[in-house]
Amino acid sequence: MDENNKQRKPIIYYYAVVMLILCLLNLFMLPQMRQAQIVETSYDTFIAEINEDKIEEVEVKSNQILFQKKGDETVYRTGIMNDPGLTDRLLEHKIKFSSAIIEETSPWISLLVSWLFPILLATFLLRLLLSRGGMGSGGASPFNLGKSNARVYKGSEQEIRFKDVAGEDEAKENLQEIVTYLHDPSRYKNIGATMPKGILLVGPPGTGKTMLAKAVAGESNVPFFSISGSEFVEMFVGMGASKVRDLFKNAKEKAPCIVFIDEIDAIGGKRNTGALSGANDEREQTLNQLLTEMDGFEGNNGVVILAATNRPESLDPALLRPGRFDRRVPVELPDLQGREEILRVHAKRIKTEKNIDYNVIARMASGASGAELANIVNEAALRAVRENRKAVTQKDLEESIEVVFAGYQKKNAILTDAEKLRVSYHEVGHALVAALQTDSAPVQKITIIPRTSGALGYTMQVEEGNHYLYTKEELENRIATLTGGRAAEEVKFGTISTGASNDIEQATKVARAMITMYGMSDDFDMTAMATVSSRYLGGDATLACSDKTAAAIDARVIRLVRQQHAKAKELLEEHRDDLDRISRYLYEKETITGEEFMNILKKADEDTVPAETAD
Ligand code: ADP
Repeated sequence: MDENNKQRKPIIYYYAVVMLILCLLNLFMLPQMRQAQIVETSYDTFIAEINEDKIEEVEVKSNQILFQKKGDETVYRTGIMNDPGLTDRLLEHKIKFSSAIIEETSPWISLLVSWLFPILLATFLLRLLLSRGGMGSGGASPFNLGKSNARVYKGSEQEIRFKDVAGEDEAKENLQEIVTYLHDPSRYKNIGATMPKGILLVGPPGTGKTMLAKAVAGESNVPFFSISGSEFVEMFVGMGASKVRDLFKNAKEKAPCIVFIDEIDAIGGKRNTGALSGANDEREQTLNQLLTEMDGFEGNNGVVILAATNRPESLDPALLRPGRFDRRVPVELPDLQGREEILRVHAKRIKTEKNIDYNVIARMASGASGAELANIVNEAALRAVRENRKAVTQKDLEESIEVVFAGYQKKNAILTDAEKLRVSYHEVGHALVAALQTDSAPVQKITIIPRTSGALGYTMQVEEGNHYLYTKEELENRIATLTGGRAAEEVKFGTISTGASNDIEQATKVARAMITMYGMSDDFDMTAMATVSSRYLGGDATLACSDKTAAAIDARVIRLVRQQHAKAKELLEEHRDDLDRISRYLYEKETITGEEFMNILKKADEDTVPAETAD
């Protein structure tokens, strides 16, 4: 895509302009400066000096007499007197009559020099300061207040196409209609169909909403205006509204085109219904203007508005009604296949070894967004460079997943032996409980190398395929696995540590969701006890029930976690040998793969089976 914005001029350009202005000023000021050297003299001195033959030349003007002495550059001035004999006296002493002792500056030039230039110079310098300094950033300088600062892209060689957006097939299919429309609006007009005026792309951050909007512009080969909702919010009330007006005016001139408003929730949030809405006046006016503009143009005039948000529930209902953003295109986190495709798209830009299994990487990166996957590929490339390799390997990609999710390895975190042993037991506790239950995701890797995220170790479980539904048993097993770390510490050391804080948080979240949202408790049946806000931003649930029920829910959450914790402890006690052996092994090796883990576990079973039968 070709950015059509005015490029920032190099600083040398500004220096050149300032220098030019200074030179011009100098040029015009010279005569004035010469005038500054004029020395006032009395008329009698002037006469005396004529008589003494000291004067070289004289210029008689209507209001003054200027003269220069012999061998002296200075210009002297004296007033006009009623002296009819002056000319004779000058002739008598052979003094030259001159008309150019000093050059007159025209009144226009004087005006220019004394007024216009300083004003121009000051304006220029102010503008320079504002555009370079903080005030100018974001386009909020007084020179473009009320002007939309949308970036305009026009089709070019590097434009984004649908094929660059991996996965997201439903979204692409949905948007394909817009492309067809922009190619040939008359087909729609002829049949009397109106295109939706606005399309809202909703989904978690980094799933490719901006990319999709750009791809629509790329496919349709039309200009693309891109602006973020927060850029409308100005320092003065009313300016945001004026920016909206300006944006739509420009868009209409360039139609057919696409206007993309990112983070539309910044201006499109629900309006205040209360009387005291002063603080939000600016945002409301901006939103009202947007609504007016959307109502004002015909559906078929060739301007398509795309907007993106990850908080659709916070949008003002007026924005979502038919005739405005009436079509909603979900852009969800990619599934396994989508993740694999995204990895492949980004891997094309780097040099990789031939035998990379993207499916494994995609499975490991469960829950990752497109942006995170792009980051994983880049991290892998950086790692390859760090390690002086010419191409990215499978290992680079696997390691970079850990970097993106857990941070870099902490080289200088030195654990005591006792701590290291505890972390080994903790991690093996998770892995063992997961492996001993059915319906748990297989263990991919266990490590006790501390990470910059604060984790002292972790167990990576990887789902086999896509998982859209979870049964009650699977969720219970998940809680048991999460409590497995603490349970292992109890079984081995008889004491507990702070290492389980993250497990506790997650286990509670799962247990609470089971009871309040998934209807998985006998007592509450299928009653919703909580509402989820910001589903795409982590989905915080707020309880929607009486205080008494809330207390009852808490009791059930505790009971559920306690049951699973007890189950995990029991499992580990039963398999105490496995726990000890694998923990020791992990303690020595620091990182083991899921395969190694399963081998040790199976081998132990094979060893014990004949022993038992022998007994
Ligand atoms: P959003 O607007 O949803 O927050 P973006 O469109 O800005 O996300 O995506 C950020 C980056 O993530 C993109 O520049 C791209 O590199 C990568 N990305 C996200 N989704 C995809 C996808 N489906 N295919 C390829 N790359 C993607």
